[in-house]
Amino acid sequence: RRLGNMAGVSGHVAPILENAKLKFEEKFGELPAYAAVAPGRVNLIGEHTDYNGGFVFPMAVPMVTVVVGRESQDGKSQVYTMSDAADEPRLVEFVVKDGLQPGTPKWANYVKGVIANFHEPVKEFQAVIITSVPLGGGLSSSASLEVAFYTFLEALMKSNASSLTEKALKCQKAEHDFAGMPCGIMDQFIAVMAKHGHALLLDCRSMDWEQVPLNDPDIAILVTNSNVRHELSGSEYPERRKHCEEVAQVFGVKSLRELSVQQLDEKAGVLDPKKLQRARHVITEIERTSKAADALKLKDYNQFGKLMVESHESLRDDYEVSCKELDELVNAAIEVDGVYGSRMTGGGFGGCTVTLLKRSSVEGVISHIQSKYKKGATFFICQPVEGAKVIEI
Ligand code: ADP
Ligand code: MG
Repeated sequence: RRLGNMAGVSGHVAPILENAKLKFEEKFGELPAYAAVAPGRVNLIGEHTDYNGGFVFPMAVPMVTVVVGRESQDGKSQVYTMSDAADEPRLVEFVVKDGLQPGTPKWANYVKGVIANFHEPVKEFQAVIITSVPLGGGLSSSASLEVAFYTFLEALMKSNASSLTEKALKCQKAEHDFAGMPCGIMDQFIAVMAKHGHALLLDCRSMDWEQVPLNDPDIAILVTNSNVRHELSGSEYPERRKHCEEVAQVFGVKSLRELSVQQLDEKAGVLDPKKLQRARHVITEIERTSKAADALKLKDYNQFGKLMVESHESLRDDYEVSCKELDELVNAAIEVDGVYGSRMTGGGFGGCTVTLLKRSSVEGVISHIQSKYKKGATFFICQPVEGAKVIEI
C-alpha cells in the first residue's frame, strides 16, 4: 500500500519518515496529516565559543529527526517517541491548554518546552517522533528534536515564526527552561538555517552568518562516535559557562569575545589559574574558528586541519572537556596519510570526533581507528544537508 508521495524527500529522510507514518497509524488509528524534519549537526570548529559571543562553524549532518502528527479529536495531546530515551516510557499525554510544566518522562521536556515557547497558543495534537541522530552522542539530537517539533507545530498551526532566527531562539529557550540545559545558540541555529553543501559560520555576538561551500568531491568529513558518554557532561557545562562569565566580569566586558590573549595574560597574576585556562581556550578558539573559515574558502585543507588539531589540544589541556576515548580517536586519525585534521566535537566528555580527510583515505582511516580503539567506534561519512522543513505527505 502506498503511504504517500515521496517525491522530493531526500534519501536520508524517506525511510524514517515511512517508519514514523506506520507507527502513527498503529498508535492512533489513522495516517498523520503533517510531517517535519530537522537535522543533527557536527561542529567543524569553534567549541564552547557560542555562549561567549564567539564564532562557531557547524554543518548539518544527514542524521535527522522527523515528527509526524495531526490534530487531536479528544481534547488531549499525545506524543510517542520511537527512541529508547533512558528507558523512560515512550508515550506521554498532556493537555496543552492547561499549561505545561517540566516533569517526567524527561525526554518530553524538550517537546513541552517547544510547545510552551511556540509563538502562539498550540491546539491539541497527536505526534510520533523518530530520529536517526544518536541520543546524547554530541550530534545534537536535542536541538534536532526541538527544531523538528517547532517546524511540525508551524505546519499544524499553519503559522510560521516571524523569522528563522526567532525560531532558533525559541527552541534554545525551550531547552533552557524545560530541559534545564543552559545551551548556546549553535545547535538550534544550524538545525534551522543549514544549507545543502555548505557549512555555516555563525557570529554568536551579532547573530550574522555566512554559508561557506563544503562540497569538494575529493574531501570527506568523517564523524566517529566514541560510544562513550561520561556523566560529567551535565554538571561541568554550567560550571564552564559560569567561569567564562566571571572572567568577562573581571575585565568589565560583556563576553570573552571582547578580549585578546594579551589582555588576558596581563591579568594572569590576579585570575584563578583554572579560570585563566578556560578563558584562554575560548579566546584562542574564537580566533581559530575565524581563520578556519577563511581557510575553507580558499580550500586550504592543510591549514583547516592544523587548526582542528590545535582546537582539540586546547579543549583537552585548557578547557579540560576531552576524555581518554576522544583523545585516542583523534590520535589514531591523525596518524593516517590523507588526514588533514581531527578533533573532538560537541560539548565533550564523550560523544564524537570530526575528521577532515581525503575521500580516498576514508577506508584506511576507519580500519586504522578500528584497530586502535578497542571500545568499538561507529563511523558516519557526512555531507552537509539542508535545515529544517515541512514535508508534504
Ligand atoms: P545531544 O543533543 O548531544 O544528542 P543531549 O543530552 O543534549 O545530547 O540530548 C539528548 C536528550 O534529548 C535525550 O536524552 C532525550 O531526553 C532527548 N531526545 C533527543 N532526541 C530524542 C528523541 N528522538 N526522542 C526522545 N527524546 C529525545
Ligand atoms: Mg544537545
